[in-house]
Amino acid sequence: MSGEKGVETFRESTSSPELLSAIKVLKKELSSELVILGHHYQRDDVLQFADITGDSLILSRKAAEMQKKHIVFCGVYFMAECADILTEEDQAVYIPDLEAGCAMADMAGRRQVEETWGKLTAVSDETIIPVTYINSSADIKAFVGERGGLVCTSSNAGPVFDRAMELGSKILFLPDRYLGANTALHKGMNKKQLWLLDRLPDRRQMKDIRVFLWDGYCSVHRQFRVEDVYRLRKEYPGIRIIVHGECSEAVVQASDDFGSTSAIIQQVSSAPAGSIWGVGTEEHLVRRLKKRFPDKTVLSLSGKGVQCTTMYRITPEKLQKTLQGIRDGGSTQRIRVNPEIKHYAKSALMRMLSL
Ligand code: SF4
Repeated sequence: MSGEKGVETFRESTSSPELLSAIKVLKKELSSELVILGHHYQRDDVLQFADITGDSLILSRKAAEMQKKHIVFCGVYFMAECADILTEEDQAVYIPDLEAGCAMADMAGRRQVEETWGKLTAVSDETIIPVTYINSSADIKAFVGERGGLVCTSSNAGPVFDRAMELGSKILFLPDRYLGANTALHKGMNKKQLWLLDRLPDRRQMKDIRVFLWDGYCSVHRQFRVEDVYRLRKEYPGIRIIVHGECSEAVVQASDDFGSTSAIIQQVSSAPAGSIWGVGTEEHLVRRLKKRFPDKTVLSLSGKGVQCTTMYRITPEKLQKTLQGIRDGGSTQRIRVNPEIKHYAKSALMRMLSL
């Protein structure tokens, strides 16, 4: 492992049967007013309690439709914030660990983004539309919403780019440089039309740029290397390699396909028996695919398996504590997004959901 923050080698997790049955009992007690949402990267002993599992897009849509009073989000902080933004005032959203953030979302702070925006708009005569990946703070979504921009997920980044290009002629994409670049290249743009914001362009360079890429990334998906793709292709002739859109452009281009976690699941599930798959995403999902499709060979692209340390902060113990708190009327795990931030962030989310 690279020693990078937010990522570690996969570790098996186990929980005592007593703890698991205590969660079951609490869930049953609260069932009429509770829903548990679980992201695909959660550990199995947590995800088994989720009423709905999915990627960020599915879960944010579901959160918007939920009538339940208590929504417990087993995922990371920005996901729970999204659920709070999209639900009604009389609904409460909780996350079992308030420290379960996202390394990528933390790479784009509001003040820094505002500064860069000011400099870019000062040297550009064209309209720039801000687009933020859902893996960003509510504050960044509000920044985007306030300026007429949109949120996207890894499932719908393509259509969101199309919409942004109807609204303006350039995009500022936050915070994932790789998803931004992979989406733009997939849409037929060339590398010269992309600008990584590790420095600012001058007025002359501005002309050709269509997408400004914030210099953020997912530390988990950045672990996958082109060499991993070559190695698997050599060891397993005929293998299909599919990776998440948060992987580097080089990895995406060396692979057969890229997409969201839902797209990865869909591709593997619809493939013929006997097919071999190299999958470049978080290890909990890769292992689940392996178990679910024993008639296919599913391999982790990295070999050793990488897991997201913040997703892993959600444990059955913390889930139990959260449910207990809800039952006793004193949970401290509630997420409350500031109303003004909520207003603008919601407009950016709704522009995405209406596509
Ligand atoms: S896997 Fe990457 S993008 Fe997803 S929560 Fe972890 S750090 Fe963030």
